[in-house]
This record gives sequence, C-alpha cells and structure tokens, in this order.
Amino acid sequence: MTTAILGGGLSGLLLARLLHERGERVIILEAESQYGGLCRSRKAGEFTFDTGGSHIIFSKDQEVLSFMRRMIAKNEQRNNRNTKIFYKGAYVKYPFENGLYDLPAEDRFSCINGFVRTLIAVEKGEILPPGNFREWIDYTFGPGIAGCYMVPYNEKIWKYPTEKMSHHWVDGRIPRPPVEDIIKSAIGIETEGYTHQAVFSYPVDGGIEALVTAIAEPVLPFIRTGFRVTSLRKDAQTWYIGNGHETITANRVICTIPVQHLLPCLEAVPEDVKHACRALVYNSLICVNIGIRGSLPEISWMYIPEQSLGKTNRLSFPSNFSQHTAPPGCSAILAEITHQPGDEVSTIPDKELIGEVMRMLESMKICTPDQIIFASVERQPFAYVVYDLAYQKNISVIKDYCHSRDIPLVGRFAQFEYLNMDGCIRSVMDFVKSYPTE
Ligand SMILES: Cc1cc2nc3c(=O)[nH]c(=O)nc-3n(C[C@H](O)[C@H](O)[C@H](O)COP(=O)(O)OP(=O)(O)OC[C@H]3O[C@@H](n4cnc5c(N)ncnc54)[C@H](O)[C@@H]3O)c2cc1C
Repeated sequence: MTTAILGGGLSGLLLARLLHERGERVIILEAESQYGGLCRSRKAGEFTFDTGGSHIIFSKDQEVLSFMRRMIAKNEQRNNRNTKIFYKGAYVKYPFENGLYDLPAEDRFSCINGFVRTLIAVEKGEILPPGNFREWIDYTFGPGIAGCYMVPYNEKIWKYPTEKMSHHWVDGRIPRPPVEDIIKSAIGIETEGYTHQAVFSYPVDGGIEALVTAIAEPVLPFIRTGFRVTSLRKDAQTWYIGNGHETITANRVICTIPVQHLLPCLEAVPEDVKHACRALVYNSLICVNIGIRGSLPEISWMYIPEQSLGKTNRLSFPSNFSQHTAPPGCSAILAEITHQPGDEVSTIPDKELIGEVMRMLESMKICTPDQIIFASVERQPFAYVVYDLAYQKNISVIKDYCHSRDIPLVGRFAQFEYLNMDGCIRSVMDFVKSYPTE
C-alpha cells in the first residue's frame, strides 16, 4: 500500500515523515526541482535569503513549537522580537496599539480617544457587532488606530478592500487590546502585545529551509522532485497520478498542493465546484533581497503602511535573526511586496523593483545605494489566502467535493486557510492521528 502525497512543502514533508514513522510506504510528488515550498531558502554567495518571504519560528501551540525547536536542535538561535512600524518617518513599536507613545501627539490623541469612545459605545450596545473586516477593525481598535495604521496596512498587504473581507479569521489571531494597555502605551509605559511571538527562533545556518530539511531527512529517498502533477484518476482501488509523461500508481492520495492546481487534474469536475475555485482570492509575493556592506538598526522586521514609500509592505532583517545569513561585516534585508496574481505589479522587471526598494531604503535612512553589494528578486505565485466575503461558501463547496472524491486536503493552499508553519504542522499531526493505518 503506497500513499502518494501531492506537494513537497512543509505539510507534504511532515505528512510523509509521520506516515513513514508508522511504517507506511509513501511517495512525495513535488513540481519544483527543490522540495520545501514556501519554506525554501537560497544561498547567494555568503548571503542566505528565505525565498517565500521572511520566516520565523514561533507558536502558541507548545507541542508544535517544541517539535520545530527539536527539529533544528543545535542549529537554533533564539531572538527577542524588536519589531517596528515605519510611520511618518518614525519607528513605532509593534503592535501599533502598544506603540502609541511613539506617535506624533495629535495622532496619539486620536488613537486613544477613538479607542475609548468605541469601547464605551460597544459596551452600551450602540455599535452593532462587525459584519466585515473593516467593521471589525473599527469595532476592535476605534477609528484612530484604524485610520492611522490598521486600514492602510491591511489594504497594502491584502490588496483587497477591507470592507469586502470577512472577519472570521481574525478572532484569536488579533486580540482586542485591554484598555489598560492602550492607556499605558499612550503615556509611555512599556507593554507587549502578541507575546507568543515576543521571543522567536531561527536557524543559525541555512535559513528557514533548515527546518524543512530536518523534517525531510528520514523521507529523502521517497521525494520525487520535478514531478508536476497534471492528472489524477481513480480506478477501483488504484490512483493513477500523471505529469504528462509518466504515470505513478498509489493506493491513497493526500493533497497539499493548491486547490487551484488540484481541480484541473481531475476529470468531470462540476461547474459549480470550478466556479467556487475560480472565485477564491489569494495573493502572490515578490521578495527583493538586498545584501549590504555595514550594519543595520537592531530591528527584527518592520511594517510599512505608507503608500508613498512604494509597494513594499514589510521589510525584514534576516542578519538580525542569524548573523550567518550575511558575510562578516555585512547585513541582509528582505523586502516583501504582495500583489494580485497576474496584475500590473507582476509584470514589473526585477531591475525596476530593486531600484524602487533601494530608493525606499535610502529615504528611510536604512542604507545608501553605495553600500549595496547584492540584489535579487524571488517570486511566489501562492503566498497569502485572502478571506473575501464569499470565502466560506466557496471553500466549503470545494472541500465537500474533494471529500466525495476521497482526496484529503492538508496544508496552507490545499485547505486554503491562513496557516502559518505551526498551523500546517498542527493540521498534519491531527490529520495523521485520524488517518486509518494501512
Ligand atoms: C510572506 C510569508 C511569510 C511567512 N512567514 C511565516 C513565519 O514567519 N512563520 C510561520 O510559521 N509561517 C510563515 N509563513 C507561512 C508558511 O510559509 C506556510 O505555512 C508553509 O510554508 C506552508 O506549507 P505547505 O506545505 O502547506 O505549502 P507550500 O509551501 O505552498 O507547499 C506546496 C508545495 O506544492 C508544490 N506544488 C504545487 N503544485 C504542484 C503540482 N501540480 N504538482 C506537484 N507539486 C506541486 C509546490 O511547489 C510546493 O512545494 C509565511 C508565508 C508567507 C507567504
């Protein structure tokens, strides 16, 4: 009995590992020449950059966090988060609601005033519970924080109007800050938000790929790279999985590839299922990697809500996670630009994107063009799930259909959910527990 796992990202590799540990036969079919998916890293000279955007290891889920840390073992560097938001030329402490003291006085007033007035109105029942993400932002933070940061930043990263997004996914992910914290933050008493991420880990060597390399280790002989699944057919007890040149057979199939890649592999998919799949919204990502001579501010990463600074929504400083990501005396910067698949940003040549990031870094006084000794661009077609208002209806049509075809969906773009590495690992662990043994 062989189980074929479609996709060799973190989810596919961990699925294979856990099934292999149960004594089962697996084969992982990965389209690219290298396994790892969004968790790959690329070495360029002595620089190492994460190719799917900047990654760190953190989790509220202690079992999953221990697993990730055990995997990288001695290759772990622990870091204290020092994250900022670049706002009107100043570095504001992250999360924004914990950094109000860093704001100009009039913005600080509007943020605290809006927060308190909204809280009172909510408690008096004068504001209805939110019906979309935009309303959720106002309801949770008030119009000041919403207008200064939450709306501009979210629209920059999602490339989607916040009033057309659902809010079901933020519950638990972005908590309503306690009023005491807002007051403390406005008068300059230190508070921490998102404390489960205040200390994070990163591999000393190899970038985030070191985590998936460690996970993949026992199943390396079972990975077929360069196998882009294009057809999938079941006949009695056998699956036939093709790539256009070759067909592999298996008894069971688990999908970790995007549903947008899975459905075209299947015959006779009903029109309503295809329609639901076409309607799902997601973002692609461009990473601009910059290597510089010299040092950087001791910041972990920085959010950039302002449109005037260009398309970058987040800057990370990997050499502040591990110095081994840059040669001695040098530093690494990773600029992330989200965009809609196939939009005009996707057609901008690399050189132009690098030029824009260089100008932005200079205007932010992070580095000057003459310090730059390396620049490259990476592109990821599937980066972020965007929860539009029709998401829940559409995804349930697709999940029901895949279930009826006996194809379990596991992982970020197979489940089509905003899962970080810890969420993928949790999904895989839970899935394997309930997956029948051969
Ligand atoms: C910008 C960004 C930053 C992030 N930062 C963090 C972070 O700091 N911490 C964190 O925990 N998580 C982070 N994540 C999330 C993390 O990257 C994902 O949770 C995780 O990598 C998803 O793994 P996966 O295997 O489910 O999907 P993927 O990594 O997308 O793997 C899917 C695999 O399927 C392959 N594939 C696709 N089509 C086919 C086909 N037809 N045939 C065969 N193979 C195919 C792909 O090549 C890929 O290898 C971040 C994500 C992004 C985009």
